[in-house]
Amino acid sequence: MRDSTLEYKENFFTGTSAAVAGGFTTILDMPNTVPPITSVKELIHRKYTAKNTILCNIGFYCSPLNGKDIKELISEGAIGFKIYLHKPFENQNLSNNNIMEIMIEIKKNNSILCVHAEDYSFSNNIESTSSNKAEVFAINNIIDLVKQINCKIHFAHISTYEGLEIIKKHKNELDISCEATPHHALLDKNDVSDDFGYCEPKLKEKKDKESILKGIIDGSIDIISTDHAPHTIVEKKNLKKPGFPGLETAIPILMDLHDKKIISLKRICETLIVNPINRFNLKRIGKIMPGYKADLVIIDPTRVKVIEASRFFSKAKYSPFDGEKFKGVIMSTFVNGQLVFNDGQIIAKPGIGNIVHQSRESL
Ligand SMILES: [Zn+2]
Repeated sequence: MRDSTLEYKENFFTGTSAAVAGGFTTILDMPNTVPPITSVKELIHRKYTAKNTILCNIGFYCSPLNGKDIKELISEGAIGFKIYLHKPFENQNLSNNNIMEIMIEIKKNNSILCVHAEDYSFSNNIESTSSNKAEVFAINNIIDLVKQINCKIHFAHISTYEGLEIIKKHKNELDISCEATPHHALLDKNDVSDDFGYCEPKLKEKKDKESILKGIIDGSIDIISTDHAPHTIVEKKNLKKPGFPGLETAIPILMDLHDKKIISLKRICETLIVNPINRFNLKRIGKIMPGYKADLVIIDPTRVKVIEASRFFSKAKYSPFDGEKFKGVIMSTFVNGQLVFNDGQIIAKPGIGNIVHQSRESL
C-alpha cells in the first residue's frame, strides 16, 4: 500500500480502492515501506495512518531486525513477518544465525515467516539477483534452517520450476506453504518488452511460467498473491523499480482461466480465500454464515473486462496486461457488510475496513 513517505506512489485510500475494485476484501500489507516496518513504533504509526483511510480489511506484515522484536510486534498486531533475502533493510542482519533466532521466536509465538526467496549473494548485478539460481539457493537454505527449527514458513511469489519442485518435495515433512502471482503464471520474460514489466522475482522462462500455472491448478501452490507494487511512471522508466499494480487484474485473469476451463472455481476459492485464511489464521471471514463478516464479491463471469490501466484506482496506471480482455467483471464488493464498490464506482467512505490481527478478532 506504500503510503507514508511513499504516498506519491500509492496511499491507503487509493490502494484499498484498487483492492475492492479488484474484488479483494482483506489484504496483507508488506513491510518494505520507507521507513520499513521493523519496529513497534513504525507498526503503530502504520496502523494509525491506515485506520480512517482504508476501504477493506488489512493486516500488517513486519520485518524483524532480530528475534527479540517478534513478541512485541505480534502483540501490537503483526499479521506475520517477511524477510527479503535479496535486500535486507538497514541494520537488519540476515545471516543464518539471525534468521534462526527469528525463526525460533516466530515458532514460540505461533506466527509465520514469509520469505522473499532470492539470495543476496547473487546480487552483484540485477540480472543475476533474479536468476533461477538465486531462488533455488534461497529456498534450499531456508529449508535447511526449517529442518532444524520447524517454524511455519510461507514462500512468497515463487517464480521458478526448480524452486517449486524443492518446495513440493518438502511439503509433507515441513510446515511450509507457497504462493505465486498471476504474472509469474501467465507471463515469461519474452512476453514483456520494456521496463514496465520488470518485477522481482523477474519473469522467467516459458518452462517456469508453465510450472507455476500447473502448480496453481494442481494444488502444489497454496495461495495466489498479487504482489501489488505501485511506482510512478518516471520511476519505472528511469530507475527500473521492480513490480507493478496487481490488485485490479488478478481476479479477472483467474476467472478468464476458469472460463477457458484451465482452472476450477474450487481452486480459485482455495487459493484466494480458504488457504490464506487458514495459513494466516484469520478469524470470522471467508464463509457465508451467521457470525461471519459479510465480505462478499459479486462477479459476472459472462462479461468481458478490458484492462484499462489508465483507469485503475491505483495511482500506478500501467500493467503488463494493459489492453487485454478477460472474461469476468467485478460487479460489487461488500466489506464488513457494507457495499463499498458497485458498478465501477467506489461508493463508501474510507474507514470501513478493519485492521486484522493474527489469531485475534479484528480491532
Ligand atoms: Zn517480495
